[in-house]
Formats: sequence, C-alpha cells, structure tokens
Amino acid sequence: MPSLSNPSEIAREALRLLAIRRLPPSPDNYRALYDEIAGAAGDQVEPVPQREFKSLLASLTKETPAQQRLTRSLEQALSGSNWQEIGSRLSELVRQLGKEQELPWNELLADFLREWENKHVGLTVGRKREALERVLASHSGNAVLLFGRLQGLVKSWSLNSPGGDEIQLTDAGAVSPDEAGLVPDGLAGSGSGPSSDLLGQLREIFAYSLEATVVSQLANEPELGADARALVHKVRTANSRGAFESLLAGLKRFAFRLEVLAEDRAELRAGLLHLLQLLIENVGELVIEDRWLNGQIAIVRDIVAGPLSIRSIGDAESRLKEVIFKQSQLKHSLNEARESLKQMLAGFVDHLAEFADSTSDYHDKIEVCAARISLAEDITQLESVLAEVIRETKIIQLNAQRSRDDLRAARERVGDAEQRIAELQMELDKASSMVRHDQLTGALNRRGLDEAFDKEVGRAQRRQSALCVALLDIDNFKKLNDSLGHDAGDAALIHLAAVIRETLRPQDTIARFGGEEFIIVLPETPVEDAQRAVIRLQRELTRRIFLHNNNRQLITFSAGVTEYRAGDTQASVIKRADEAMYAAKQAGKNRVVIG
Ligand code: GH3
Ligand code: MG
Ligand code: MG
Repeated sequence: MPSLSNPSEIAREALRLLAIRRLPPSPDNYRALYDEIAGAAGDQVEPVPQREFKSLLASLTKETPAQQRLTRSLEQALSGSNWQEIGSRLSELVRQLGKEQELPWNELLADFLREWENKHVGLTVGRKREALERVLASHSGNAVLLFGRLQGLVKSWSLNSPGGDEIQLTDAGAVSPDEAGLVPDGLAGSGSGPSSDLLGQLREIFAYSLEATVVSQLANEPELGADARALVHKVRTANSRGAFESLLAGLKRFAFRLEVLAEDRAELRAGLLHLLQLLIENVGELVIEDRWLNGQIAIVRDIVAGPLSIRSIGDAESRLKEVIFKQSQLKHSLNEARESLKQMLAGFVDHLAEFADSTSDYHDKIEVCAARISLAEDITQLESVLAEVIRETKIIQLNAQRSRDDLRAARERVGDAEQRIAELQMELDKASSMVRHDQLTGALNRRGLDEAFDKEVGRAQRRQSALCVALLDIDNFKKLNDSLGHDAGDAALIHLAAVIRETLRPQDTIARFGGEEFIIVLPETPVEDAQRAVIRLQRELTRRIFLHNNNRQLITFSAGVTEYRAGDTQASVIKRADEAMYAAKQAGKNRVVIG
C-alpha cells in the first residue's frame, strides 16, 4: 500500500478498500479502514483530546465515595501526555479494579461476625461498635484499604480473646490498639465521649467492689486493709498501660495474701470450736448433779458437734443463755430459801433464850414465895403469896405456850421453804432443755416457733428471698391411737419428727404445732420447691416405716404449703397453710397442696 498522508487521499483509499473487501459501508468499517491506512502511514499520531476527556469525566456520576475514587483514578489515567501512557495507566486501573473484586469479603465478614459475637477481655459491644465506626469512616472509599483495616480489626480482636496471648498489632495497615477499642480511653487519643464515661464507670464499679467486699472485711487486718485501700486508689488513678499492668500484678499478690488469710481464719475457727467442745465437756462433768443443766449442756454439745452454721451457733447461744438465766434464777431462789431458814433458826434460838430467862426468873420468884410461905404467920399473908405464885405460874405457862406456838409456826415455815426449794428444783428440771422445745418430739414448741418465724421473716425480707411454711397433719391418727394405744401414738410422733429432721435441710425449722400437727418453715425456698421437699418427705416416711412392737405401721400425712407474702402475719400464713392442708385431706389425704 502506498503511503498516504493527505486525509482526502486516505479517505478515497478507504472507500476503495471497502469496495474491494466487500465490507458493508458502515461508519465503523470506514473508520477502521481509514485508521488502518493512516496507521500504515505511521507518521500521524493524533494528539490526546484532554478537553474532551475532562468534559467526559465531569459528566460521570460521583455520588458515592467509590464513584468519586474511580473518577479520580480515571482522571489520573487519562491525564497522560500520550496514548501509550494513557493505555498503561488505564490497564493498571483495570487491574486494580479486578483485584478489589477478588478480595475475600465473604471470609472476612464470616470472621468479623464470629469475633463480634466472641467475648473479649476488656471489650464491650459498645467499644467494638466504636472501633468499627472509626474503621468505616477512615477508608475514604478505597475498598482495598477498607478490607485491610477491617481485617486488622478482626485480627486484633481475635488476639484479645479470653485465654489468648497479649495483643499484637504489628501488621502494617492493621488497626491500632486504640482503633480496635482495646486501649482504655484514658490512654487513647481523645479521652472523651461515651466510651470514656463507660471506662470511668467500670473503673468506679471495680473500685467500689473492692471497697465494699474486700476492704470492709479487713477491719481486723490493718496491714492488709491498707494494701486493699492502696489497690483501690490504684484502680481509680491508673492511666497508662504500665499502670494497669502493675495494678494486675498487685491484685494477684493481694489475692494470694487473702487466700492465706482465709486459711488462717479457717484454722482459727476449727481451733476455737475444739476449745469450745472441751469446755462443754468439762462443764458437763462439773454439773453432774444438776440434771436440768446437764440436759442443756448435752444439747449445746450436739449443736457444736454437728455441721456448723450461723443458725446452729445462734441456737447454741440462745440455749446457753437459757442455761445461764436458769442458773441465776435457781441460785437466787436457793439463797432466798437459805436466808429465811437462817432467820427462822435465829428466831428459835432467841425464843429458847427468852424461855430460859423467863423460867429462871420464875424459879427465883417461886423461891422467894417459898421463903415467904415458911415465914408466914397468918392465913392472909399466905393468901397474897399464893396469889403471887399463881400469877407467876400463869405467866410462865403463857410464855411456854407462846414459845410452843412460835416453834410450831417456825417448823411449818421451814417445811414450806423446803417444799418451795423442792418444787423449784422440779420446775427447773422440767424446764431444762424444753423451754422452747416440745418435750415429746424435741421439735420447737409454739414459743420456739414464734421466735424462729420472726427471725426467718426478717432474714427473708433482708435478703429478698422466698420463705415457705408447710403445715403437716398425720392422717387417721386417732385410729392409730385407738388401735395401738397412746404410747404407740407418741412413738409415731417422735418417729415423724425424726424423719422430718433428717430429711429436710438443716436450715429448715420444725415445730410441733398441736397434737399431731407440725409446722415446717423453709427459708430461701420458692413454693414449688417447698412442695417438692414435702413430697420427698412423704416418700422418705414410706421408706423408713414406723415399727411398733415389731409391727410395720405406715404413717402418712396431708400437708398444705404456702409462701410468705408481704404483709402476712404468722397467723395469716398458717391459716393459708391450714386451708391448703384441709384441701389435701378433702382430696383424699396423703398429698401436698399449695395454698
Ligand atoms: P385426719 O386424717 O382427718 O387428720 O384424722 P385424725 O384421726 O388424724 O384427726 P383427729 O384430729 O380427729 O385426731 C387427732 C388425734 O390425735 C386426737 C388425739 O387422740 C391424738 N393426739 C393428739 N395429741 C396427741 C399426743 O400427744 N399423743 C398421742 N398419742 N395422740 C395425740
Ligand atoms: Mg389434726
Ligand atoms: Mg390428723
């Protein structure tokens, strides 16, 4: 082909080639042939049409950051000075775009979701959200950058999962600990905003928890208490990663010392308990003569020997107080009785002395009268002497009579005092361990129940916990009494009380409410659990059958269970339990009804 430089010649040649090659005479075909001929000419490179490119780029939509970024990239690509440069820039841009589309977003999003839901040390959902928002705001529409930053965020979270290693944020392009939400705000750039408030609150909660739970428990340990207060101060003021690390180390050391203290306290408690047991044994030996006192001591000994609880110690204390009170009462009464005996004896001696005095006086007077009689010269003289003898004899007779009456009265008073002492002794013996307990079954009596109920209501209100009351009534007890005798009935009551005591929890209170009715107070128990506990008791009673003269005797009971409600009195709770128990009887006995 001849080289053509004139555009009109090139045009003519293009038309000729269209005809020769039998191509349809479309503008495209014409243009292609024109370019071919012009190219072949090799000397005509058209100048880059910058103005057209600019107006073209200006007309592109630039609503989203991605569109803006693409326009900018195109701008750069089309700003080349020649077609070759523009071509390579465009091809680089196309390559970049392809790369963006190849990013494994699906995997990243799956990882992201997993880490979002995972728990991380020191990371709340709020902090994660803030970190994510920061990443989203910072990528400026660059998908690759966004991908990288998001990946970095997910990685930093995953490294901070519980049990994970220290946070490592060394990757280039990864988010900083601050951005990941891992650095407390006090350490992060801004130090203000909602996350800062949250950290402040958390810091305060931690400091408060330490103060309320640890410092307050160390009143008797000044050194440890001071350490605890120093830790609280550190919690409130730590404001760098280093300070937090030193706080953690301090907390670990402190926890170890607390553990040692707890062990010491447990040992001390065991030692004190042992000492108390020894003391009780000894007191028991010393008071062998006082049966009533021995009964009390035995009960205290049992309580101390059993599993210890605040409740059992409280119980032991109240029993000991009773012992002390009864002892002082007895001493006082015995002293009074002794004092009155002493006074009576003294009075008796005085009477004897008086009597002796008056009889010797009488003897003297009679002697004088005898002398006067022997010297008497006439009957009139004798008459006056005899009158005197008769008067003196009457006086002495009266004296003797009075003394005898006094002595009789004194003897009666001594008898009374002796009887009072004996009665007092008997009363104390009877009162011994049974002051708040039913003598037959050992369960609490009504007075004991009143006390226990008030205590449990107070405790339930303080702890905001559920409190239940169950009322049990033995089924067909009259029949058992009538057929086997009253003693068998008594033994059945003792058996039931023992089974209740051994089946229910130590903190449950058992009281004998009437003849064959028992009340059980169940602290920290919702009503469904209380019902289950009483049903378990029924089963246990069937298993541990009552034996009378080696005959198996099945005892069953009906029960009503109810929960204490605000405003209830002991009477109103028991009334509800009683109604439920009655409903259980009506429904066929041997069942537990909630009231
Ligand atoms: P229900 O199933 O309806 O409760 O019938 P029950 O026979 O158990 O009821 P009821 O109240 O008619 O009888 C209770 C009997 O309990 C009457 C009395 O003889 C007997 N009882 C009450 N206190 C004692 C006690 O201390 N010892 C003995 N052995 N029996 C007692
Ligand atoms: Mg009854
Ligand atoms: Mg009954």
